[in-house]
Amino acid sequence: MAKKTVTVFRGDGIGPEITDAVIRILNAAGADLDYEIYNVGEAEYEAHGALIPEEAFASMERNHVLLKSPITTPVGRGFRSLNVFLRKKYDLYANIRPAKSNHAVKTPFQGVDIVIFRENTEDLYVGVEEQIDQDTIHATKIITRGASRRICRDAFEYARAHGRKKVTCVHKANILKMSDGLFRDVFYEISAGYPDIEADDKIVDNVSMQMVMNPWQFDVMVMPNLYGDMLSDLASGLIGGLGLLPSSNLGENYAMFEAVHGSAPDIAGKGIANPTAFLWSACMMLEYLGQMECAARIRRSVDRVLEEGAFNTPDIGGTATTEEYVNEIIRLL
Ligand code: ATP
Repeated sequence: MAKKTVTVFRGDGIGPEITDAVIRILNAAGADLDYEIYNVGEAEYEAHGALIPEEAFASMERNHVLLKSPITTPVGRGFRSLNVFLRKKYDLYANIRPAKSNHAVKTPFQGVDIVIFRENTEDLYVGVEEQIDQDTIHATKIITRGASRRICRDAFEYARAHGRKKVTCVHKANILKMSDGLFRDVFYEISAGYPDIEADDKIVDNVSMQMVMNPWQFDVMVMPNLYGDMLSDLASGLIGGLGLLPSSNLGENYAMFEAVHGSAPDIAGKGIANPTAFLWSACMMLEYLGQMECAARIRRSVDRVLEEGAFNTPDIGGTATTEEYVNEIIRLL
């Protein structure tokens, strides 16, 4: 079988460092991949006048799979957010964020294993804001039956395929009776097709408290865009921080894999970025492409390094550099 070619965006801030780290590990692990790698973001804009060059879009459209490191969206460059733009352009409607604690990473929350399904294309992220008068701004929240249906369906399909027991719908339908009410109603309509999986719903404020008091009660969770944004950062806090939370963004025709964290400009260039979230995103990409064994080998190696602890990066309590951490993962592969 021909090697699969994937598109890679090197991004801003810590983006280039963690991209190079991850490609080194993928190569060392024998991933059956070719890469088309593009610099994107602020530096690319300064050099060539486009945040994302046309060739990079063309590559994504050819390969249908993108491994994307964090990009800073510069103010005043015509984009509200490049990330939101990419998700919309390629209709990457399902943002899947698995938050699983690792016993090697110190946190009071061992044994957490939550998968968040965040609707990725609508809600307040449609970015429609309107000035009504000098002292009044309206922001539009959009919830549609179609978008709600496909994200809820994907959450239940995932639960069934991965032997999960429960899907929880998160909403604020007590206040947003029509919009979040529609999302919750669709959730229960879809759940009827999955009698083998428990379905329940909870209000987002309650969930925020419950995730801290008793995160073990949650399994798969599905929610509109904004709550997904917030609760996945909360989930990353449970498992040891942003450096550990990967994600996939899936649509009918395209797939994009990225870390949940941003470009972390405060530590860029210092050689101490934690590449784990991006590496696990690459593992999700390998699994998506059917390269299970390679993904498993990388995951095992990362687990051993984290467990040993001597090569952990500062964000999770260690003193190692990105390079030392990566070298040790490669040594153990
Ligand atoms: P965005 O708005 O793009 O999500 P942000 O500025 O809100 O970005 P991040 O860039 O994710 O947030 O950074 C938040 C904090 O987490 C920063 O202090 C950053 O250094 C830290 N951080 C994020 N990612 C990593 C990482 N991979 N390794 C180490 N620290 C990280």
